[in-house]
Amino acid sequence: MPELLTSELARLRDDVMHLGSDVLLPMLADSSLDASDRHRAIVASSKNLGLFGMTQPKEFGGSSASLLELTVVRDTLGSMNLSHLPGIFGPGPGVLVGVEEPLKSNYLGPVLAGEKRGAFGFTEPDAAERATWATLENGELRVNGQKSYVTGGADADFINTLVEIEGHGPAMVLIDTSFDGVLIKNTFGSVDGTHHAYIEFHDVIVPETHIIGKPGEGMPRALGQIGNTRLAFAADSVGLSRWVIDFVEKHLAAPHRSGQPLSSREGVRMRYADMRIKAFAARSMVYRTARLGDAGENIVNEGIACKVFATEAIGDIVDWGIQLVGGIALRSGHPLEALYRRVRVLRLAEGASDVLRLNLARGRFELDKGRL
Ligand SMILES: Cc1cc2nc3c(=O)[nH]c(=O)nc-3n(C[C@H](O)[C@H](O)[C@H](O)COP(=O)(O)OP(=O)(O)OC[C@H]3O[C@@H](n4cnc5c(N)ncnc54)[C@H](O)[C@@H]3O)c2cc1C
Repeated sequence: MPELLTSELARLRDDVMHLGSDVLLPMLADSSLDASDRHRAIVASSKNLGLFGMTQPKEFGGSSASLLELTVVRDTLGSMNLSHLPGIFGPGPGVLVGVEEPLKSNYLGPVLAGEKRGAFGFTEPDAAERATWATLENGELRVNGQKSYVTGGADADFINTLVEIEGHGPAMVLIDTSFDGVLIKNTFGSVDGTHHAYIEFHDVIVPETHIIGKPGEGMPRALGQIGNTRLAFAADSVGLSRWVIDFVEKHLAAPHRSGQPLSSREGVRMRYADMRIKAFAARSMVYRTARLGDAGENIVNEGIACKVFATEAIGDIVDWGIQLVGGIALRSGHPLEALYRRVRVLRLAEGASDVLRLNLARGRFELDKGRL
């Protein structure tokens, strides 16, 4: 529960609050800083507080923070509408967690040191004749296919790619973007302001040592990576829900041209109460799930439940918030307008809500997993 934190966690929460109010918010308001100045300042202040290494393994100088610690930080940053700032957390290992040589020295170490950037290739285009595949012969993979939605793909040094290896099954394969036959077919932006690439692979020769784990382990590895991100999305969403509710609350309590604050209207109160109910439920489940995960429980189904519920909740909360604040909330540059665009992607990225619902039901019916 967010209110029964140990004194260490309460201190962490308070430190993050101070970072937000004393450093990050004033910095965002300072128009004399450009994007790279801001990024440098965010990284420096995050390192100073020990946040930067929380997503990085101890072996590489990080602190491998617990799920609960990460949840506290994300929830707190979200409550100040700061959870989207790049540079607060250092680059994490993603699917490269625990890899051996040569991937460890050539890719994992440089990624964690900020010297190389990886991207994640999972989604196939609707019109694909065949999902990305490879043959394996004489220690080499020959990869063909395409990935249609690779975030940061245009600037990435490598793509961790889900590949079907003929005769062996699916595997995550690290494909260096400098290899012959890797083609960025096009790049595009999405409504939240992030950038992506459509990438093709034409007879790309990849050493067998670039298979992450063993052939046949591709799907669990890919889903493990997605699982961590899902809880992160959920924790960001509950923090942002709190930020929206605070924002709307102030608006509702302020004078209104009708002569009475909107908070005095019964219909407005009903909608406002619904926003609080959703935020309370989402926040409760995310903290409970983080504690279960830290206790070593299997939280695959609970992580799915959190991601679906919390991202749908923030979607509804922002939408209702805009409705209650009125047309001004849709003016370009208004914080609710910007947030509306940002949170919309959360119901598709890292698993579409309805597909996750199916996974959750499968977890119960076929694998006997999950709790209430
Ligand atoms: C901002 C953003 C960043 C992304 N970054 C990446 C990335 O870095 N790497 C990557 O690989 N992908 C990335 N994606 C892609 C994302 O993972 C996919 O959009 C998502 O998995 C849904 O797949 P799709 O778009 O192919 O839609 P589809 O799979 O075609 O699904 C569309 C809709 O159809 C319905 N549907 C689909 N299948 C079923 C089913 N079996 N049963 C019932 N209903 C179903 C659902 O309503 C679903 O929302 C990103 C997407 C966004 C928006």
